[in-house]
Parts: sequence; C-alpha cells; structure tokens
Amino acid sequence: MSRSYSQAARKALSEKELEKEEREKERKKEREKEREEERKKELYSKGCVAQCINFVVGEASKEVNDLDVQEKFSRNLATILARDKEVVAVWLRILQDRCEIYFSKNSCWLDKDNEYIENITNYLKNISKNTPAKSEDNESDFIVAVAYYCYTKLKYRLNKLKGDLRFCGNNEYVKYFINLLSNKENNKNPMMISKVCSKVYMDVKNEPDVPTKFLEHLKKAGSYMVSVRGILRCAYNAQYKSLFSNVRIIKVDPVIINKQPIYSWKNIIKRFIDEDKYNRFMDRCSENPEVMERINKVYTVYTNNATREQPLDGIDVIQCDTYLHAELGILALIINKKINSRVFIAVSKSCCYLCGLYLDFVIEQGYNITIYGKHMKLYSRWIFPHVDNNDFNARSLKFLIENLNRIIEKNLNKPIKSLPAGPDRTWKTSNRGYRQT
Ligand SMILES: [Zn+2]
Repeated sequence: MSRSYSQAARKALSEKELEKEEREKERKKEREKEREEERKKELYSKGCVAQCINFVVGEASKEVNDLDVQEKFSRNLATILARDKEVVAVWLRILQDRCEIYFSKNSCWLDKDNEYIENITNYLKNISKNTPAKSEDNESDFIVAVAYYCYTKLKYRLNKLKGDLRFCGNNEYVKYFINLLSNKENNKNPMMISKVCSKVYMDVKNEPDVPTKFLEHLKKAGSYMVSVRGILRCAYNAQYKSLFSNVRIIKVDPVIINKQPIYSWKNIIKRFIDEDKYNRFMDRCSENPEVMERINKVYTVYTNNATREQPLDGIDVIQCDTYLHAELGILALIINKKINSRVFIAVSKSCCYLCGLYLDFVIEQGYNITIYGKHMKLYSRWIFPHVDNNDFNARSLKFLIENLNRIIEKNLNKPIKSLPAGPDRTWKTSNRGYRQT
C-alpha cells in the first residue's frame, strides 16, 4: 500500500516537474522571440535613418561571370521571370533523381505568374522530350509567352535606349545600331529589337568610344533574347533531358509586412548624439534637399490612398509595405536545409546593401553562396530573413545592427555636404573607370 502510494507520489511529482520544465522552455522561447522582435525594430529603425543619410554605402561590385551551364540557365530564368518592377531570384538544385527549381520574388504570386510558369515549363519539357527533332511550335510559343510577360520591362528598357539615340546619335556605334534597326525585319517587335541589341552589344562592347550608358542599355535590352536563346539551347541539349523531364517547381512564399512599428528618426539619432548636436545636425540636413527628400519619403506612410507625414520625433512611428527581398527567401531555405556546397542564387537585379551584408555574414558561417553582383544601395523597406536557428538569427541581427551603427555614427559627424547623393546618382565602376548610372 505504502509502496504504491510513494510510486504514485513520485509519478505525480515527476509529471509536475516535467510540466514546470515545459513551461520554462515556453517562457524562454517567448523571451527569445520578444528579444528578436525588439532587435528587428531597432534594425529597421536604424535602416531608415541610414538610408536617409547614406543611401549609397559603397562601390557596386561587378557581376559574377564565371558561371557554369546550370548557373547560366538559372540566371536566364531570373531574367525572363521578372515582370515590370519585380525582382525574382532563382535557385536550381540538381538532385540524384530530379531537378528542383526554386523561384522567389518580392511580391505575391498572381494567377498570371502561375500560368506563365506552368506554360513555359511545359514548352521546355516538350522541346526537351522531342530533341534532337526541332520543336518549332513550342519554341515560338515560348518566345511569344516571354515577350508578352516581360513586355512592360522590356519596353521600359527600350525607351531608355531611345533616349541614348537622341543624345548620342552622332556616335558611329549608335549609328550602326540605328542602321540595323532601319531594316523592317529587325524592327518587327520588341523581341526582335532585343535580338539586335544583343548582337550590337557583342559587336561593340570592347570599343573604347562607345557611350557607356548606351552600352549598358543595349546589354539590358538585349538580355531578353540572350536569355531565351540560352534557355532553348539547354532544352535542345540531349544531355539535360532527364533534368527537364523530372523537374519540380517550388515557389517560395513572399513575406510582406504592411505596418512595421519603428523608432522615430529623432529617437535613433539621439542614441548617438546629444540635443545640441542633434539640432546642429538638423540644420545641416535642411540645407541638403536630397537628404530632406529621402527623409520625407521614408517617414511618410501611404494608407487607404492617403499619405501621412509622421513627425520625426514621434512615438508611434510605422513603416509600410516592407518586404523580404527575393534572394533572401532562397537564402533562408539554404540555411534551414544546411546546404554547405556551392549555391548560385540568380537574381534579376544586383542585390542591395543589406542583402549583401547578410550574405557576407552567411558566408562567414561557412556557407558557399554566390550571387549576381551588389549595387550597395541601402533600402529601409527591408525585412530580416528569419531562419529556424535562433542563435543564427541573434548573431546575424547583431552583425547587421553593428554595421548600421557604424554608418550612422560616421555620417552624423561628417559635414552634410559630403553625404552621398540621391538615388539616381549611383557611382559604379566599369572598365572605363567611374560612370554615372
Ligand atoms: Zn536586397
């Protein structure tokens, strides 16, 4: 009797202890979550201040050129998947029995995106299945689908090129381009023009007297036909038949936060300097229209078709429509899957300063990631990529905040005139030295 009583008591006690342990674990998790939320709020708030006072943090790095066939294929896919102003990232993962293609973008996947991806996947599967026979119908359907989907962005790039023709019409290489376009066959539709752009780019890219902007616009407009051709070459290659026949498309869910609480402009700056210095700093800012324009943009919220300027010394400040950058959606997957082998993330646009910084941290942790160039602009509407490992999150947040602290500190103590200029004056390096984009 007494033995069974003590057994029951022990059982009850150990159950209680287990429950207590569970509760303690839950509380610990809650505290960690709260700490992470607080650190993210600090990061986003400092990102806002840093964007206003130092929009372009450094020199853009060059695009990666030593890509293998599969990496080029994913880069080409990223180009034809970017509709209008969206940024798309692609990761091609070759496994023993199949190929997985991960797509990630800054915004939500719409029906027309899903339909387009399904269609182009089918065209490419059919071409690959029939190879070495030519699949002319599938090929032309594929090109038409790309032209239709990318129309807005391609048109935008061609319009930029039109501007170059007006400004540099007397340059012999521009004349050469105009001459080719005067042939009606070359001028039938935007994709034909893209083809001419890619040809002229290849012909003139090493000539010393080609206007830099013209060359850059030629490359961008020509990238559509270059990508289409590159993708078709792979689909026609018998070597890749098994990849196309057993491909799995995975679309990464976007992360968008409509109302992110942040600390105000003054709250952040006062963590670095006292009231006197703050007032003098504000006087200097007010003399710089570009900084004032950025402050206005960053701290104005757009809700229900109305705009509301938030006081710089406000208490309840928010940031609207922040989103996870496309490349980070894929990067988070790679970290969660603990993939240490080389991964190339193809992005339709070079990555921004904060994405580049996060990537530096990830590489430092032993991951082997390559990405397509960095443009070094600092965007505050940026979401931190949460991964499954809390310690990893805490350390990466610390790293990002420390870098933003450095940027803010350096710029608060600098004459305001030397702050980097506005968004349209990014300085990039080229083989001709510095150029304005
Ligand atoms: Zn980014």
